[in-house]
Amino acid sequence: MTITPLMPVYPRCGVRPVRGEGCYLIGERGERYLDFASGIAVNILGHGHPALVKAIADQAATLMHVSNLYGSPQGEAFAQKLVDKSFADTVFFTNSGAEAVECAIKTARRYFHVEGKPERTKIISFTNAFHGRTLGTISATNQPKMRDGFEPLLPGFEVVPFNDLEAAREAVDATTAGFLVEPVQGEGGMTPASQDFLKGLRQICDEQGLLLILDEVQCGYCRTGRFFAHEHYGITPDIMAVAKGIGGGFPLGACLATEEAAKGMVFGTHGSTYGGNPLAMAAGEAVFEVAVNDEFLANVRAKGDRLRQAIEQLIPNHDSVFDSVRGLGLMVGIKLKDAVEARAFVAHLRDNHGLLTVGAGENVVRILPPLVIEDSHIAECVEKLSAGARTFEPAS
Ligand SMILES: *Cc1c(COP(=O)(O)O)cnc(C)c1O
Repeated sequence: MTITPLMPVYPRCGVRPVRGEGCYLIGERGERYLDFASGIAVNILGHGHPALVKAIADQAATLMHVSNLYGSPQGEAFAQKLVDKSFADTVFFTNSGAEAVECAIKTARRYFHVEGKPERTKIISFTNAFHGRTLGTISATNQPKMRDGFEPLLPGFEVVPFNDLEAAREAVDATTAGFLVEPVQGEGGMTPASQDFLKGLRQICDEQGLLLILDEVQCGYCRTGRFFAHEHYGITPDIMAVAKGIGGGFPLGACLATEEAAKGMVFGTHGSTYGGNPLAMAAGEAVFEVAVNDEFLANVRAKGDRLRQAIEQLIPNHDSVFDSVRGLGLMVGIKLKDAVEARAFVAHLRDNHGLLTVGAGENVVRILPPLVIEDSHIAECVEKLSAGARTFEPAS
């Protein structure tokens, strides 16, 4: 037998974390890493945040799981908080981002079903998008690395260029249900939608009775310095998928919708055994109480500005490695020069300088720190980036 007990789908690196302390991870041999990957935008309160740890421990001792057969005081309370702070009127809790996107797609299809327009099934999505790894969510992308060998995929998707409003408008036809889009693309390369693009999609939806579905799994939940990234654009969606930061490390996602958009989601149309169980709700509430307030969000914006400026200042000194900075809030991407491969540079930062980052499309290094970073962590990150650029030798 040569297959490993863990199905070998991840090219796992040599870092083997066994403990977390705030913004640091500690490996098996006691080595420390500055964690500016945050479990890919998940650990927004860092590792071992006392409020989150206590909420989970207390809830685990009180009541961990019951079925959605029963009433959920915990779910009602948390859903109410999300509704009060967002465009949404209703929430479905999931265990992951892909499930939240699946729920969003199902909600859109049901909407047109009960509207008496069952032909409107096509969802228009965008190049470089990432929506998850289920059959439905890979169908909403055009990336061969995610789709190869999994055909036949789910019909009813069309992919057009990101940030190209005219292409989006032209793709709309009598079978279109709406658009599925990340306000800031994460895996695709930390690329914000332009103001005109996102506002234009909203306008097309309004004019033609279509649904705007946002995937804020990565860019939402305080990451950009607003509760949700679409708040930077002055628009609201009809349906939105959320996950990653919402549980702060506990597996939790949510599909939020307006009352109108969710009108097809009646008894029996959807479900999840674990979704929104008391333990997940306790984690979600604890993160919400710490992060979803003006003071916390203002701090994320300030830290984001500082980190971005500091990286911008680095570029001229290391212009054979770094090209430019992009992103929003604490969702920062460093585009590297063509000759430098993002994956190799991420590995170099990790193995030789103890800094954890993540690669992304378009040769970008993703900097996704916990949202509770201090100035000292920013300084440490910048120092490591600078040292990393100085010592990097591209493979030739
Ligand atoms: C991570 C991510 C997903 C998928 O979330 P999972 O929890 O891995 O299923 C979907 N959309 C976006 C934008 C993401 O970044």
